[in-house]
Amino acid sequence: MEEYFAVPQSYKLVRRDARPERSVVALRNGVTFGGATLAVCAGPCSVESREQIDRTAAEVAKRGANVLRGGAYKPRTSPYSFQGLGREGLKMLREAADRHGLAVVTEVLDVREVEQVVAHAEMLQIGARNMQNVSLLREAGASGAPILLKRGPSATVDEWLMAAEYILLTGNDRVVLCERGVRSFDSATRNVLDLAVIPLLHERTHLPVIVDPSHGTGIARLVEPMSCAGVAAGADGLLVEVHPDPENAASDGAQSLTFAEFASLMERLPRIAASVGRHLPAASLAA
Ligand code: PEP
Ligand code: MN
Repeated sequence: MEEYFAVPQSYKLVRRDARPERSVVALRNGVTFGGATLAVCAGPCSVESREQIDRTAAEVAKRGANVLRGGAYKPRTSPYSFQGLGREGLKMLREAADRHGLAVVTEVLDVREVEQVVAHAEMLQIGARNMQNVSLLREAGASGAPILLKRGPSATVDEWLMAAEYILLTGNDRVVLCERGVRSFDSATRNVLDLAVIPLLHERTHLPVIVDPSHGTGIARLVEPMSCAGVAAGADGLLVEVHPDPENAASDGAQSLTFAEFASLMERLPRIAASVGRHLPAASLAA
């Protein structure tokens, strides 16, 4: 107990001054977050079918994404909305990623599913709604797998960093933070994407930071400009929702890019990345 009183800071392992350099988080297939190459995580909100995830994986790999995203366990606001394909979805995601040379990031909702998700993914996503689920932070941390920790919908920067501290305390320091917007009074956009936290977090923590303009805005046509702005602000990567047919998506269609919109974004990004000393991953030859 004494230790809790002796340490005045609410976080110490994640602090910028805990390390001489900023951390680079590497996935087992070599994808990195925090290096000169940006991490581009792209894919549908939910895995819906083998065909849907495979077509999307092929397309995003061809355009230069290096991580396939897709939810198999979905934290939906309404219990009547599509809840994800679960274990079957994880298998489809894994197969599509392997076929197209991509790593996998996918959300883990429950401590009982950590092992299963680790078996299918290079990286576990802890979603906004679970950012302060201490049991999940500990269990996911203890798995040793890299973790993408989204900002809670109303979490302060300090609360977010304390959540990351729980993971580092398990001995797992492969944590990447993801800004995905916070709640505000204004419903013009789904959330308010807080891009100021990117340079701010780079001052406060050594952990890499990526941006999710899809959930951050909720509006597909805002995703390209906000992705560019995020990279210009120093983000270490992006998380972007892409769907073969957004109008008929099972979740988050309004914010999902079509293949053509994703291609347009990936054409525009290299020049912006170069202006801040970064570059995009090379497009996959396997695609
Ligand atoms: C998602 O990535 O599809 C998701 C549910 O995100 P968030 O936790 O940021 O709402
Ligand atoms: Mn989504």
